[in-house]
Amino acid sequence: MDEKLNDKKIKFSIGYVIVAILIMTLIQRFIMAPILSKQTEIPYSEFKAALTAGEVKSVTVSEDSITGVMKQEDKAFYTVRVEDPDLTEELEAQGVEISGEISQDGGVSALLGWILPLAVMGAFWYYMLKRMKGGTGLGGGLFSFGKSKARTIQGEQTGVTFKDVGGVGQAAVELQEVIEFLKNPAHFQRLGGKMPKGILLVGPPGTGKTLLARATAGEAGVPFYSISGSEFIEMFVGVGASRVRDLFEQAKKTAPDIVFIDEIDAIGGKRAGAGAFGGAHEEREQTLNQLLAEMDGFESSRGVIIMAATNRPEVLDPALLRPGRFDRQIAIDLPDLAGREEILRIHTRGVTLAENVDVATVARITSGFSGADLANIVNEAALLAARRNKEAVEMSDFDEAIERVVAGSEQRTRAMNEHEKKAVAVHEAGHALVASLLPGTDPVHKVTIVPRGRALGYTWQRPAEERYLLCEGELESRLAVMVGGRVAEALTFNEVSTGAVDDLARATDLARRMVTEFGMSPALGPVRLAGEPQAAYLGMQMGLDARVSPQTAASVDAETKRIVEEAVEQAWGLLASHREALDELARRLFEQETVTGEEVVAIMAQSSPAVERSFA
Ligand code: ADP
Ligand code: MG
Ligand code: ZN
Repeated sequence: MDEKLNDKKIKFSIGYVIVAILIMTLIQRFIMAPILSKQTEIPYSEFKAALTAGEVKSVTVSEDSITGVMKQEDKAFYTVRVEDPDLTEELEAQGVEISGEISQDGGVSALLGWILPLAVMGAFWYYMLKRMKGGTGLGGGLFSFGKSKARTIQGEQTGVTFKDVGGVGQAAVELQEVIEFLKNPAHFQRLGGKMPKGILLVGPPGTGKTLLARATAGEAGVPFYSISGSEFIEMFVGVGASRVRDLFEQAKKTAPDIVFIDEIDAIGGKRAGAGAFGGAHEEREQTLNQLLAEMDGFESSRGVIIMAATNRPEVLDPALLRPGRFDRQIAIDLPDLAGREEILRIHTRGVTLAENVDVATVARITSGFSGADLANIVNEAALLAARRNKEAVEMSDFDEAIERVVAGSEQRTRAMNEHEKKAVAVHEAGHALVASLLPGTDPVHKVTIVPRGRALGYTWQRPAEERYLLCEGELESRLAVMVGGRVAEALTFNEVSTGAVDDLARATDLARRMVTEFGMSPALGPVRLAGEPQAAYLGMQMGLDARVSPQTAASVDAETKRIVEEAVEQAWGLLASHREALDELARRLFEQETVTGEEVVAIMAQSSPAVERSFA
């Protein structure tokens, strides 16, 4: 233990000495040399000529140089001493004042050139050591100078509040607890509350994750320390880790506060298999390890809350997500209609709008846009209006701005036209309604037509309880929910769109497993027909066992088809008998973009009360 510390001290000293020498050389060269060279250097021959002419007043002779003063204007000079045996004689002959010098350099220049910088460095060193005293470890060699940067890591009072963030309702509610805690940690703990240490904000780019983290600090009125994962990418090995260490050290001093690690995927990506990246990889690893060590090293009771943001949670190293680290995740989705309107209102606060601008309309036509896109649109529109010397920003400016933003970002093919939006609304309404009507399905939590990932909309069912076993009836209900979207489209438009592609894939897959793995087909009986799982990289495709006869294989196909078709029939029956509710839900979805589970229940209760149940 001690030895290790000594080792570190030695390393530290070596680093220090190297820097000291460098600095002294610089001082010598750029500060001392000009001072000393007020004595003009002259060639020896010139000196000799002056001496012969009797112009020299006094000289100081050292081993390799001669400095002196001319009689004329007491001009100081300096020359290199060459081998000249007659010199002393001649000096005496001219009656020049002579003084000798033992050291190589002049006394004054020695003082200025070496002793002074040395004293300065000594004082600096002393200061550094004092600063470090009590600090944990002296750090890695030369780079412990990064230490002095600790002073520049300052907690920031962000001044941003939730008023500046729009359309993140649920996330804001979840963060409220954190704010309460930060405002008064002691009080919070007295009531038995235990804060999570790490909170991970997850969501697509530009949805306001960074903004929300800053707003959380602002709401609580605590300092905000932030670093971005991407900052570490180009650093020297060891610097990232020391930055993390400094950051946490500083944060602990000013607790309660928030440490925010933006784009954490840049340092916290999965570690395996990245060896080929050499230096960058090693740096990442060290930084990540330091982060994990820091997170484990203190209790959240001290009042430091660590927040992080990522748009790629799937690449994060599982070590980061373990309990006691980033074990709480808050999802931030693209804003729905109401959210977009809120965001637009926030960003148009300082903008002069013409009468014809209806923010709600702008929100309506920007489905799939992120908060950052919307901020961008407002800015772009204001610039366009200014360029045209308008008094206020008009609707036409917004239209053009939207076009530009759509064209500018590849992602933005997501902006749906009205017809598509209607189709998606009907489709999702179908899923949600079937799910609400059937027993054995999880209750609907939320339905949305805000695109997310590849899906144009989705119905979120929240499991009422953890399930390990499912019986046949429940599987059939699930199948009906899966095909419900497509059935709703067929009922409403008399045709189906390509929107059901994933639903059909999932439904077919499930039906097939019911036949080949669960033995749920009366025609084929309780036998396993599925083959062994193929190699995992083929995506767990499960074919039929090689011993299955062609006739049986044909029956498997037929039975799979029958099961899916029955699910379609069931969904059809349900939706047809609840047409009113279906239409109402679809309309509501089209308008609001997001409908909660309670609203779905309310809609069902209001419309067509006679619930005819066509199933057993
Ligand atoms: P992320 O970190 O999720 O990529 P940012 O927080 O960096 O997104 O957002 C970039 C900018 O976009 C913000 O500074 C803000 O101007 C705007 N913005 C994004 N989301 C919102 C929102 N929900 N409310 C208000 N402004 C937002
Ligand atoms: Mg960000
Ligand atoms: Zn669907």
